[in-house]
Amino acid sequence: MTVIEVRDLRKAYGETVAVRDVSFTVEAGEIFGILGPNGAGKTTTVECIAGLRRPDQGTIHVLGREPHDSTLRYEVGVQLQESQLPDKISVREALDLYASFYPDPADWRALTRELGLADKLNTRYVKLSGGQKQRLSIALALIGSPKIAILDELTTGLDPQARRDTWDLIESIRDSGVTILLVTHFMEEAERLCDRLAVIDHGEVVALDTPSGLISGLDTEQRLRFRPSRPLDDALLTALPEVRSVKRHGEQIEVIGTGNLLHAVTSTLAVNQIIAAELRIEQASLDDAFVRLTSRSGKE
Ligand code: ATP
Repeated sequence: MTVIEVRDLRKAYGETVAVRDVSFTVEAGEIFGILGPNGAGKTTTVECIAGLRRPDQGTIHVLGREPHDSTLRYEVGVQLQESQLPDKISVREALDLYASFYPDPADWRALTRELGLADKLNTRYVKLSGGQKQRLSIALALIGSPKIAILDELTTGLDPQARRDTWDLIESIRDSGVTILLVTHFMEEAERLCDRLAVIDHGEVVALDTPSGLISGLDTEQRLRFRPSRPLDDALLTALPEVRSVKRHGEQIEVIGTGNLLHAVTSTLAVNQIIAAELRIEQASLDDAFVRLTSRSGKE
């Protein structure tokens, strides 16, 4: 079931066209990522979906309704980039205040336990660490028991452990039935969390796929390095259609190629009773996909 539908979205700020012709759908129960470099138009897109900005053109439906439909505020939780609370508000006061906006709020005591904030209830906002502020903003986005949570740059500024803890948390929120729209510019985060991704660059969707689909869609080179257990004729490898080149680095052989290079090379070695010692493989990553996709549209 489609829960968010964006069609031909366009939004400009004066002369700056932040988003042009963006279209995608988000299905119930998925973690959908919007990935793109700084200034690509990610925040503008989610602000339009959250009903905080009006598009210049295009249509958006959230749970079948227009984004600014007031009934959606009980069904969509939003955690926006750099959301700030007053310095002196305590965690408990912030949660109480936000809970009062909803007819049927989540039990915030349970939320704070899940989010590791249970011992910070009396701490003032200004005294929280970056990770704790982030977790509080997630709690506030979830306090209305939303069907959809929109999370913008949620792990920016967090240390690696706090980032991983936040990822586990997002997965458990999804497992509880909430659809998640996640804005990120961290490739690792997108790869780890997202079921599908829209890569946005210069206000346009340049790719829409699963993380592994994006990677395999690239005809990227792979690189194998190994030390053969006995002398090997390069021609054995260069004869393989998957192999583009073979180089020697002392005792090491480097094979560059495409397709199922690993299988092609290791089976040829096996037939010739050669063992590949110290075998290392370098394959394309979502980083490579991202750089290729975004630099391509930049050139245009
Ligand atoms: P970042 O990763 O840096 O947050 P983003 O992908 O979220 O970037 P947006 O914040 O949507 O990108 O910005 C897209 C473009 O629109 C940028 O060129 C930005 O400078 C411009 N822009 C965003 N908000 C405004 C605004 N309120 N007024 C004028 N220009 C804006």
